[in-house]
Amino acid sequence: MGVVFTCSFDDGHPSDMKTADLLQKHGLKGTFFLPVTNWEDGEVMARPQILELARHFEIGSHTYGHCYLSGASAAEARYQISEGKKHLEDVLGKRIAGFCYPGGKYRQRDIELVKTAGFTYARTTMNLRFDAGDKPFEMPTTIQFYPHHRSVYFRNFARLGEWAKRQDGLLLALKYPHWMDRLYALFDYACEHRVAFHLWGHSKQFEQLNAWRQLDDFLAYVASNVAVQDRLSNEQMAARYFKAKEAGEVAVGEKLLAKSLEN
Ligand SMILES: [Zn+2]
Repeated sequence: MGVVFTCSFDDGHPSDMKTADLLQKHGLKGTFFLPVTNWEDGEVMARPQILELARHFEIGSHTYGHCYLSGASAAEARYQISEGKKHLEDVLGKRIAGFCYPGGKYRQRDIELVKTAGFTYARTTMNLRFDAGDKPFEMPTTIQFYPHHRSVYFRNFARLGEWAKRQDGLLLALKYPHWMDRLYALFDYACEHRVAFHLWGHSKQFEQLNAWRQLDDFLAYVASNVAVQDRLSNEQMAARYFKAKEAGEVAVGEKLLAKSLEN
């Protein structure tokens, strides 16, 4: 069993089409989390683009209006979660399984609302993880495709806990001053330990950073290291991990990760 790769892209900006082209070029899978509207930067994909994207990729929901749930009333949170799902299901004519908390902001109440709305898993913004987490409604990631200052990793690490499972990732993130070196180092770690790697980001930022070439190169590197059966959408990743857990089996690379953490 080798490294497992998944990726997800948030906010439904039209430049997601460019990200999708690169994923397809390299034969990778991934998930796009879409709000219906986005008060933060306005632009979201139109219906024909969403339909085109859904031909090859999993589409997940990101609330109706990119709502930061932890600050919303219960009624507003319920509306945002269920209406976002319903709208996408109407557009696509199929069930939406995945949800992603805007800004990574949520409370226990919101987790319950997401479950009740009929989603099967949810993604957070916890980074520096090399697995699908411990709970299907709080799936973490490994790293965001963005040139963050190193202090951002430390803050995310301190705030979100699960330190034992994230310390190797943190050390690697702090070791490299350049964000590309950091990205490759974390991916190499995942390959070496045969665990999971979850890349996430915002296509709008790739455009602003003019980082398409770097993304292209990185995805080529990913494809050269990940077996076809281990290139997963977020939904497939959740299914693989949490079904294994329910059956009392060891999920993808978990044993190996536990071993590496003991050393
Ligand atoms: Zn977002």
